[in-house]
Amino acid sequence: MTRQARVVDYPDKIRTLFANLKCVLMEVCGTHTHGIRRAGIHQLLPPGVRLLSGPGCPVCVTGSGYIEQAVRLSRNPKVIIVTFGDLLRVPGNTLSLTQVRAEGSDIRVVYSPLDALEIAQTNPEAEVIFLGIGFETTAPVIALAVKQAMQRKIRNFSILPAFKVLKPALECLLKNPGVNIDGLIAPGHLSVITGAGAFAFLAERYRLPTVITGFKPEEIWLGIAALLQQISKGRAELENKYESVVTAEGNQRAQQLIKEVFEPEAAEWRGLGLVPDSGLGLAGPFWEFDSRKRFGLAEIVAVEPAGCRCGEIIIGKASPEECPLFGRDCTPEKPIGPCMVSAEGSCAAHFYYRSEVNGS
Ligand code: SF4
Repeated sequence: MTRQARVVDYPDKIRTLFANLKCVLMEVCGTHTHGIRRAGIHQLLPPGVRLLSGPGCPVCVTGSGYIEQAVRLSRNPKVIIVTFGDLLRVPGNTLSLTQVRAEGSDIRVVYSPLDALEIAQTNPEAEVIFLGIGFETTAPVIALAVKQAMQRKIRNFSILPAFKVLKPALECLLKNPGVNIDGLIAPGHLSVITGAGAFAFLAERYRLPTVITGFKPEEIWLGIAALLQQISKGRAELENKYESVVTAEGNQRAQQLIKEVFEPEAAEWRGLGLVPDSGLGLAGPFWEFDSRKRFGLAEIVAVEPAGCRCGEIIIGKASPEECPLFGRDCTPEKPIGPCMVSAEGSCAAHFYYRSEVNGS
């Protein structure tokens, strides 16, 4: 059987095999969300199977208080803010970084935190602040930048950390009484770093069927089929269907870098609130590179955009179409919340790949 034939066969087989199954599956990773919508997988599932998105888009889970912090810092004429592009249009409590840049703040977009080091080195009179967001996938390269800053004695460089660690957030999500999911598609990229074993607790402690899978349509179907099979048989196991890139132990060098440079701290998640040990702050020897300490910053309470339901969407309590602003007041050109801004956001995925017929 050719690969193409297998992909075409999957929906029919799955619809036949699981025609009477009722369950809710959650995909955690934004890349899966987009892959599912792009391939129309959500429309080809058995009628009783529902797919929801989880807290895996780094921009979407970052609270607006953090953006506000960056906005305020950017108004200091000595500060250069350096960031990944996705954060630019996310609304803070008052303005987005795009808006303050238009007012004259020095805000630069890079593809690697190592570029921020170069900016610091070529602008010794400035304070260069890198906006450190992301999961265990992004943290190692930022750890590397911090180590290099220390080795190269680049003292005008610091990180404003809002890193996220997924495991405590998933535990918080599963304990939320309003959240009911029957199976989880674990994030493929993150698993490359953490290893498949990092998700074993979901089946062992929460009896949640869990599968790690890739991002091609046939890989997503394979993962969904494995989950439905487990649910229909009453099993709860961790299955790694992405063994070509995800090992049991993960990338140990990357894990070591995270351990060396960062230490766990409580982190604020949009939709979940403050979750203990779900963030990463700079560890003792690297404290001087923490912008919060360098500038004596206090936490800023988040003020979410009026009417935006990103907080509920991120934890699977609502779908983008249930937001009254979706597609009308809020579009990728004029986004109101981060789930519409981010390339990995659930609202953006639902908007870009919505059906012309029923809008779903
Ligand atoms: S459609 Fe826009 S306003 Fe509504 S939840 Fe999504 S991002 Fe927020």
